[in-house]
Amino acid sequence: MSEKRCYYEVLGVERNAGNADIRKAYKKLALKYHPDRNAGSAEAEAQFKEVTEAVGVLSDDDKRSRYDQFGHAGLAGAGQNDGDIFSHVQDLFADFFGGAAGGGRSQRGPQRGRDVRVRQTLTLEDAVLGCKKELQLQTPVECVACKGSACEPGTQPQKCKTCEGAGQVSTGRGFILFTQTCPTCEGQGRVIATPCKRCEGAGWEEKARSVTVTFPAGIDEGHRLRVAGQGLAGKAGGPAGHLYVDVALAPHTRFERQGLDLIARKQVNFAEAALGATLPFKLLDGTVRDLDLRAGTQPGDVISLAGSGAPDVNGPGRGSLHVVVQVEVPKRLSKRAKQLLKELQEDLAASDGNETSAS
Ligand SMILES: [Zn+2]
Ligand SMILES: [Zn+2]
Repeated sequence: MSEKRCYYEVLGVERNAGNADIRKAYKKLALKYHPDRNAGSAEAEAQFKEVTEAVGVLSDDDKRSRYDQFGHAGLAGAGQNDGDIFSHVQDLFADFFGGAAGGGRSQRGPQRGRDVRVRQTLTLEDAVLGCKKELQLQTPVECVACKGSACEPGTQPQKCKTCEGAGQVSTGRGFILFTQTCPTCEGQGRVIATPCKRCEGAGWEEKARSVTVTFPAGIDEGHRLRVAGQGLAGKAGGPAGHLYVDVALAPHTRFERQGLDLIARKQVNFAEAALGATLPFKLLDGTVRDLDLRAGTQPGDVISLAGSGAPDVNGPGRGSLHVVVQVEVPKRLSKRAKQLLKELQEDLAASDGNETSAS
């Protein structure tokens, strides 16, 4: 079993299957092998992990294309994190399996709902200035048609004919009797003869819900925000889980961020650099500040504006804005500009000569 099976084979889908078909296939298999429905079966758990890993790759466009090109090797070391995929899927199933519909373990009393994790990409403006966003989340809920039974309304699960409802079958070999989990019903003792059409026999479906999340000013790439009580609902009066939002930053055209500091570039012309100038500079929040260039500013010189960086989410501090000066050399010149530059050239050459002879 050390050889990894083909992910398409694991899910039983064609290589050109669309995302919807992949999720559909996964739903069915995950339901069949879910640990809560196969208490203690190491085999079912291994199969559940296998289908979960497969869907984690095939439902992600980037990972799927790498897998299509290079097979399992294409994913090695590429940030493929089994634990991560697994926890995500656990969240997806938590609501359905965590409670009464689970069938396997029946825990009584209040239970806290599971936590949910999502990733949100923010613009630099939103991250530095703070913002409110409505996040759309998919939450698994009991299928309204079959109420979670997975049977088409009006039908019942049937007693498994292979094991007569025992969930196990025994085979005799000589004097020794082997007992194993029934292969037909996977130990359930019942089979669903007519799966619910609405949820395709899954017993649950996804429901969209929106949560408004406040991102505090200064939040940065890699930060995780906790939104209390916005995870999945608790059971039997237990509190809801939490929603965790992992923050990512989109690249910005004018600014780079380094911790609390912002870095930007400013194009100035040769005359401004040589003579010095006060130039307007638009900050991230749209306000304009004066940038003071001293006479003789060199390309690559940095002008720092303290307090114009990002605020510290954890305290009163604030970073700086560092503006790197870039000196433009004009590509086209008017007649007059050409004439003036020629005069300047002569002047520079003369003073150059003076310096050389003086030293
Ligand atoms: Zn249903
Ligand atoms: Zn059976």
